[in-house]
Amino acid sequence: MTYDCRGGLTAGLPRVSLTHLPTPLVELARLRNALPGCPRLLIKRDDQTGLAGGGNKARKLEFLIADALEQGADTVVTVGGPQSNHCRQTAAAAVAFGLRCTLVLSGSPVPRPAWNGNLLLNNLLGAEVRWTGEQPRDEVIAGVLADLRRGGARPYYIPIGGSTPRGAAGYAAAVEELAVQLQERDETVDRIVLVSGSGGTHAGVLVGVKAVGFRAHVEGMNNFAVSDIAGQVRVLTEETAAFLRLDLSFTDDDFRIHDAGGHAYGVITAAERDAIRLLARTEGILLDPIYTARAFVGLLDLIRSGGCRPDETILFWHTGGLPGLFGRAGDLLEGAG
Ligand SMILES: *Cc1c(COP(=O)(O)O)cnc(C)c1O
Repeated sequence: MTYDCRGGLTAGLPRVSLTHLPTPLVELARLRNALPGCPRLLIKRDDQTGLAGGGNKARKLEFLIADALEQGADTVVTVGGPQSNHCRQTAAAAVAFGLRCTLVLSGSPVPRPAWNGNLLLNNLLGAEVRWTGEQPRDEVIAGVLADLRRGGARPYYIPIGGSTPRGAAGYAAAVEELAVQLQERDETVDRIVLVSGSGGTHAGVLVGVKAVGFRAHVEGMNNFAVSDIAGQVRVLTEETAAFLRLDLSFTDDDFRIHDAGGHAYGVITAAERDAIRLLARTEGILLDPIYTARAFVGLLDLIRSGGCRPDETILFWHTGGLPGLFGRAGDLLEGAG
């Protein structure tokens, strides 16, 4: 059992090491030059957390896997879509700590020859996959957990996206990491832009921002992964603050969620395609098609609509997802040069 209490906010919480931290904090000067009226832009490279291709779930899993080990679990069960980055990183984290892993993936089985992106990686990492098919997801999860227990296993269940207060604590700690980086550079940030998927990242960042006393506003970009993201972020933020025994108060203005194009989860339009190409071709940094491209579309909207001042500093939190690109090559090449 590795206890790592780097951060004050999460001091005393069991934590294993799965990441290469701190992730880089970099200025996007070439992108800024390409966009008229663009404020100063920084990017926090959580696509570089490590753990089988990087991404935000690694920070949550440091706390979730530690809890699984404390509880004497031998198997981790989690859930997501076929191209879930959370499932891929959970599969890798389980391997790193000698746990077995079962993934409940929604929808009908994708035929094996078509397993690409995260689906391929799950297989390489040795995770067992169960498809929900037509059955309600919660029923399938309950069945998987019951089967494992009957077989003598000790399963630990991680809800979708690892978005529990314990998982979100990873992002409160990430804000402390960011605070140190900004202090070293004598910089401040006015806005933090990130994607709100299952809400744990957004909630954890909000708690961290309040706790360290940042004046930055957090702008969550909705990618419509869940039906009531605003409500979910609010509840998770309050639960995470309570879980960390922090006495924080939040106002309506703290919870900002934008529709960033407003398309359904997983839909890739010209806006996402253009956003991915813009960052790739100005900075050599790749976004993912489902999460970070949406957040970037939201950021570009904010800049182009005059929703931010040119003298601000905006931090874009890159949360990973690179393998998802390989599952969507056709959509990404459509109509593009
Ligand atoms: C899961 C995921 C998110 C969303 O994080 P939540 O904590 O679920 O809101 C963002 N980006 C990527 C690449 C992800 O895989």
